[in-house]
Amino acid sequence: MLLADYQKQQLNNKLGSLRISKKSSKWIAQIAVEAAEKQNNNNQNVMGVDLGLKVPAVAVTKNGKTKFFGNGRQNKYIRRKYKGLRQKLGKTKKLKKIKQISNKEQRWMKDQDHKISRQIVNFAVENNVSVIRMEKLTNIRNTARTSRKNEKNLHTWSFYRLAKYIEYKGNLEGIKVKYVNPQYTSQRCPCCGEMNKGRDRKYLCKACRFSTHRDRLGAINIQLLYNIYISNEIIRDNEN
Ligand SMILES: [Zn+2]
Repeated sequence: MLLADYQKQQLNNKLGSLRISKKSSKWIAQIAVEAAEKQNNNNQNVMGVDLGLKVPAVAVTKNGKTKFFGNGRQNKYIRRKYKGLRQKLGKTKKLKKIKQISNKEQRWMKDQDHKISRQIVNFAVENNVSVIRMEKLTNIRNTARTSRKNEKNLHTWSFYRLAKYIEYKGNLEGIKVKYVNPQYTSQRCPCCGEMNKGRDRKYLCKACRFSTHRDRLGAINIQLLYNIYISNEIIRDNEN
């Protein structure tokens, strides 16, 4: 079996029906498992998760512990590679082959979302998190910090699927997922409330000199939400 450890653990639960099907040249066995959701521990330990393109996901705990997930540059490279292949084939009108390549790309993306969501939920469990907070999905579309070059990517890349995976994997661990509608998560300084525009990948507050990686800022602000004027020592980077 090609199973990850967490999948093997699932096999200790009540097993349902087994279905075997053939997909292209591979045989696949799918087994239904009945698993109880763990009880939510209500400690209100909130973790903020910010989804984006350059960095697929950033998580920040209430202690300021931060983790980056996925590889935006690799995603871009792979997607460009498939696009090139499709274009090449398009000229020769090999429609069946084009479809095969599209399916392969879809599977690759889905697999990435599975891996990233698993890593995020594991990180949450390690840090005893009870609530994962994310931006509302409609919000992400409108505010994702992106250049025009990336816009096409934005519409095809499924933030929605990644969020749903985080939600269902989190629920199985007793972690609630809450969607919030915060504004200015990429501009507001979490230490003093001042609005600043980030430059390149760095965010620097003109008022209080708070500085951090720009993608981390979104996750910090989602984590904090309205309690912005907290003791700011825990979220300061070591670099300054
Ligand atoms: Zn500030």
